[in-house]
Amino acid sequence: MKFKPANNIQDLQYFGEFGGVNPSISDSSTYTFLSAKTMFDTFEGNADGCYLYSRHSSPSNLYLGEALAAMEGTETANVSASGMGAITPVLLQLCGAGDHIVSSRTIYGGTYAFLKNFTPRFNIETSFVDITRLDLVEAAITKNTKVIFCETVSNPLLEVADIAGLAKLAKKYHLKLLVDNTFSPLSISPATLGADIVIHSLTKFINGSSDTVGGVVCGTQELIDQLRNVNDGASMLLGSTMDSLRAASILKNLRTLHIRMQQHSKNALFLAKKFEADGLKTVYPGLTSHPSHELFKSMMNEQYGFGGMLTIDVGSLEKANELMELMQHKNLGYLAVSLGFYKTLFSAPGSSTSSEIPETEQKDMGLTDGLIRFSIGLDADIERTYTMMRDCMSSLNIV
Ligand code: PLP
Repeated sequence: MKFKPANNIQDLQYFGEFGGVNPSISDSSTYTFLSAKTMFDTFEGNADGCYLYSRHSSPSNLYLGEALAAMEGTETANVSASGMGAITPVLLQLCGAGDHIVSSRTIYGGTYAFLKNFTPRFNIETSFVDITRLDLVEAAITKNTKVIFCETVSNPLLEVADIAGLAKLAKKYHLKLLVDNTFSPLSISPATLGADIVIHSLTKFINGSSDTVGGVVCGTQELIDQLRNVNDGASMLLGSTMDSLRAASILKNLRTLHIRMQQHSKNALFLAKKFEADGLKTVYPGLTSHPSHELFKSMMNEQYGFGGMLTIDVGSLEKANELMELMQHKNLGYLAVSLGFYKTLFSAPGSSTSSEIPETEQKDMGLTDGLIRFSIGLDADIERTYTMMRDCMSSLNIV
């Protein structure tokens, strides 16, 4: 049977301890043991089903982790306090001094800053490449390379990675393919296409209510055990643990992700087509003009569409700022970073979420001053939204 990520979430059956339809929240940081021997065994990692201390694991975090693993089709998962709290430990678990990473050059600014400015302190070097060119990715691999890192759909340029092609390269050179799937949950399932590890910032579409930060690493039981190891596990020792109350609330939001993604995608496709027809430089993977439209189609779980993210280029930062302020004034969305909210969010990435990337490199990768990134909301009447957005644009002579 074809892999159906939303069904996999739906089919999990968790009861609360009193028969509640939601699992009870584990409101404890530490756990009792009936015998001292079991406590010792648990520290050694040998007491299945026993809880030790909530930085290691807690029932609420495990419930959320299992639901996310089911969604991504991996053996298991480990949730964390933020997306960066998922990405940074997994990279530090896989790489040590002298190792090398090949990364897409268009990635979230925080991940870029970590690889460019922080990991070199530990003598971990990164080559940044155009991820859409498998020949360049292969050419960048050295004898020290351990990881290929990319975003399925990149922040903010919406470049699409050929996950199966990258997985082939990873296999050929015995590397791990680590994919950040934050922009395309449900739409694309990287693990089923050969990725070894899938991470998410849960802060975005998965939680969907812009009320928390969170993250997850989805992978094999072996990797997750390594991350949680009390002696040398990067997740355990760096301590970016999610709180149980948050894990419970994110799990509840996750259950409506399929409906939300369908609406985000439907609205984004509608607006992208209209903006493009109006002559705006529009980037959206669902447009046939997107250079990787066919690739996205070949990878996607069709019913969730091409996602909620699109960009337009209005020519200059001044125009972009004017337009965003006006759209916010008309209540068409919020001038805010982040994504996946019920309301449309817009920002100019060059001066915000990608500002960690030096200007010359922004230019090289095609990140222009006038670029506006939209996370399209769940608007019930997207035609009305479009008409009002177009009025804003024409009053500023953008269209
Ligand atoms: N990955 C992507 C693609 C992102 O856009 C972000 C945040 O903007 C992150 C990771 C980091 O996530 P968090 O802010 O939850 O740490």
